[in-house]
Amino acid sequence: MTKLLLPKAVIEDIRAHSERSVRGHERGGIILGFRKADALQVESVTFPQIWDQSSPTMFRRSERGHRISALREWMRSDQTCDWLGEWHTHPGGLAAPSFIDKASWVRLARHAKKSMAFLIFSDSDMYVGVQSGWLRSVRRLNLLEESRDALLFG
Ligand SMILES: [Zn+2]
Repeated sequence: MTKLLLPKAVIEDIRAHSERSVRGHERGGIILGFRKADALQVESVTFPQIWDQSSPTMFRRSERGHRISALREWMRSDQTCDWLGEWHTHPGGLAAPSFIDKASWVRLARHAKKSMAFLIFSDSDMYVGVQSGWLRSVRRLNLLEESRDALLFG
């Protein structure tokens, strides 16, 4: 059973960044962190780059920019920081995956051949899911524990 450790600082970064963005457009990026035996530990996320495309109902991430951020983190962490998954926002919508989201998560996890974490942020709520590389559908994680600076989902 995969758990996910998410620092509150990362959530605050995403919320703050979304407030500065084009009003009402979806935002997104990749999630970077560490893989433990039974947990994914989020360390940081990347933010929208000029090469990404977005609308009120769509965010299409380009490799450009995000890849450089990921490589930089990987090198800075002695090559231990891994691509854990993706995050995006649903401005004015629900914190729940769309049909398109779910289909793309299955493809992504299958391609990566490992479990990937997916976060969706609505205006006031958050969705946390893990898609394994071999199962058909995503598993939603619930909040298990909260400390001063992190949330643990499982
Ligand atoms: Zn979505």
